[in-house]
Formats: sequence, C-alpha cells, structure tokens
Amino acid sequence: MDDLVERIRQVRLQVAEAATRSGRSADDVTIIAVTKTVPVERIALAYELGLKVFGENRVQEARSKMAALQYPLIRWHLIGHLQTNKVARAVESFDLIHSVDSIHLAQALEHSAAARGRTVAVLLQVNVSGEASKEGVNLAELPALAEEALRLPHVQVQGLMTIAPYTTEPEEVRPVFRRLRKARDELRERFPSDSWDALSMGMTNDFAVAIEEGATMVRIGRALFGERSTAQ
Ligand SMILES: *Cc1c(COP(=O)(O)O)cnc(C)c1O
Repeated sequence: MDDLVERIRQVRLQVAEAATRSGRSADDVTIIAVTKTVPVERIALAYELGLKVFGENRVQEARSKMAALQYPLIRWHLIGHLQTNKVARAVESFDLIHSVDSIHLAQALEHSAAARGRTVAVLLQVNVSGEASKEGVNLAELPALAEEALRLPHVQVQGLMTIAPYTTEPEEVRPVFRRLRKARDELRERFPSDSWDALSMGMTNDFAVAIEEGATMVRIGRALFGERSTAQ
C-alpha cells in the first residue's frame, strides 16, 4: 500500500478545508490525480482507493495507460498541450481536454468530433501571468477564442484552466487565480447561455489557495504520488 493511503487522506482533508473556507463543500471540488510518469500499478491502487479522475499531459502515454486500466468509473483528462496531429486520438480518448489555447485547435477538435458523431468537452487554457514559457491564450485574446469556440456545435466549452507560475509561496499566485475567476465571470456575463462553471486551477504547491479563489478542479500530482523522477 506504501504511503498512498495517507497521501490521499491528507490531500482530501486539505481540499475539504479549503472548500469550507470558500463557502463550499468538498464535493464541489474535483481532484484530478495527475499521473504523468506514474506506473499503471500505482494508478490502479489510487483508483481502488477512491480517486476516479486522472490527468495526463501526453496523449500517447495516456492511451497506453487507458488500455491497461479499463475500469468502469475511470475518467481521463488531458491537461497538457495538444498538437493538432494528435487531435483525433485525443477526441477518442479523453473525457475533458483542459488545454484549448487557439482557435485553430478548437476548429480541429470540431472537425474531429463531428466526424465521429460526438461532442468533445473542453476548457480554454489561459496564460494569466503572461509568462513566455506558459501555454495558453492571453487575457486580451480570450473573448475572441471563447466566441469562436462557442460557435462550434461539437465543441462543448465548460470553463477555463490556468497554470500559475511555479512558487513555493502560494499567496504569491493568489492574484492569478482571482484573475482567472474574474475572466470567467466576465465571459459568463457576455455569453450567459453557456456553461462557464469549471475553473481548473491549482496544483500541489498552490491548490488550497486556488480552491479559496473558486477552483472547481485541482490537478494534483506530487502531493499524491511523490516527486517525479523525470522533469515534465
Ligand atoms: C504536472 C502537472 C500538474 C501537477 O503538478 P504537481 O505539482 O505535481 O501537482 C498539474 N497541471 C499540469 C498542467 C501539469 O502538467
């Protein structure tokens, strides 16, 4: 069992406490267990211990894990950058794609989903801090991306995602999360008929602050599975 039982317990506790501080319940926040570089045996154990939603940032790595882990309630989210040549496989494989960051990618997803007679659920990824190394559309470009994505009948936009700058001092990135929520509220006013409920923000170092600022999904890797051996 190693320490996974205790790690999951700790993360759940911290999620619940932060949810309470934001006037919500733990059920309002989905823990996405980020399993890049984590072997399938550990993912299987995490599933048995109650985690059901798993996040991967590479389509190919995720697909081989999916093939090995065919559980009825398991859900897979793509949290990493998606290249247009992998769009078809991503549409077939993932329950939610967090990383739509261009009109071109949204249109590619539309074509692929339409060809399969299905819809694809997505979040729009926003580079709130403007860091050059980060994927995501910037805040100024977000309304145009939203407007275009909402026109695509086979693309179902559910909300926004961001990756805050790396920090060991979570208070430093609170403004990033607050800003994403504000951007979401602005989109909700502008496009009121659509669902903008999902806010995917917060990772191991900053998920409690992200929840306080309204996160509905937190993407947690190291706090659950320990440090990764390779940087990704
Ligand atoms: C790796 C990764 C995470 C998880 O990061 P931790 O610090 O291990 O919690 C979350 N989101 C994205 C997009 C990632 O690539």
